[in-house]
Amino acid sequence: MNQLNPYAWIDRSLATIKQANWYRSVRSIDSLPGTEVTIDGRVLLNFGSNDYLGLAGNERTIRAAMAATQQFGTGATGSRLTSGHKQLHHKLELAIARLKGTEAALVFSSGYLANLGTIAALVGQKDLILSDRLNHSSLKNGSLLSGATTLDYQHCDMDSLRHNLQLHQANYRRCLIVTDTVFSMDGDLCPLPELMELATEYGAMVLVDEAHATGIFGATGAGAVEHYHLGDRSIVEMGTLSKSLGSLGGYVAGSAQTIEFLKNRCASWIYTTGLSPADTAAALAAIEIVTTTPQLRHQLWQNVKYLNELLTRLPQVKLIPSASPIICIELPDPHTAIAIGEKLRQAGIFAPAIRPPTVPTSRIRLSLMATHQQSQLERLVNAIERIFSETEVS
Ligand code: PMP
Repeated sequence: MNQLNPYAWIDRSLATIKQANWYRSVRSIDSLPGTEVTIDGRVLLNFGSNDYLGLAGNERTIRAAMAATQQFGTGATGSRLTSGHKQLHHKLELAIARLKGTEAALVFSSGYLANLGTIAALVGQKDLILSDRLNHSSLKNGSLLSGATTLDYQHCDMDSLRHNLQLHQANYRRCLIVTDTVFSMDGDLCPLPELMELATEYGAMVLVDEAHATGIFGATGAGAVEHYHLGDRSIVEMGTLSKSLGSLGGYVAGSAQTIEFLKNRCASWIYTTGLSPADTAAALAAIEIVTTTPQLRHQLWQNVKYLNELLTRLPQVKLIPSASPIICIELPDPHTAIAIGEKLRQAGIFAPAIRPPTVPTSRIRLSLMATHQQSQLERLVNAIERIFSETEVS
């Protein structure tokens, strides 16, 4: 019998990925999260973490996770609607709603699942999604899953959004505008006030992804919605517990009705195991720290200002416009990005190279933490200056 290998296409596909310089592999970071981490046995200065406030390795969050594990075990053991719900989940949801200034909130096993399920619950085949071209993968895949017609508008371009609303909105049952508030790979900020004006004018729902804004933006760290003073508008706010809150999981915050609806219609919440006690308790402790320690946020913003000042002094460095702790150096191609990432590693610095297809243009993506010292930022910039002067970057 002719033994055809039905998986042979995977080899071919991997070869294509490698040829295009898109191949990725994991590296292990086997130390506590922080500004210095041990990667493959070497201690490196860390500019690759989403742990913006340094809470993933914080004593209080660790203690909270350990205590919850001891009291409630390692797993929730069931979905929330069957046997997996705990008062601890309820407490976390109350704390999120309080932080965000919404009536209610719901926690998910990850931010990715929150986006997938929420979009698919809010819209369906008869509906329209208008989506920023550079939205996160979870928003794009949630849109696909929903079956709604999805049209991308130009990145942060409110004329492009208006144009799409004018042309298409009337042809659909419901319209949902989806956007990151802080864009994860550029670090820029969505013009949310203008977007909300358009949403109101056309009667569209709005879902914002506050993954990179929660804990960082706004007077109390509630996110970009607070930063723009839009807390009184009806917005479905999604976020993650895994970045500035240093834990794992996602959330949706909004009106009590929206949250009740999701509990009944959101498959990625209903048919999955509840968040583990450790993750839940760690996120709860992190929110407590965010709300009682604004100095952490201020320290982070000081670091953002200082690094921007240092980098803009280097004429050979092209920065992608950013308004957040995500600061990207644009590079001409994936090959150069990988080479510079490797030279930084040799200099004792972890700063990941991000390439297409994840992003339209190759770059080194630096993410800052509140706990970085000024001397660490100076070490980074000195290394960048030296490496750029040794490397031909056009
Ligand atoms: N949205 C954005 C903008 C993100 O950057 C991420 C994580 N990379 C997610 C959603 C998914 O969040 P999580 O890691 O909690 O699944």
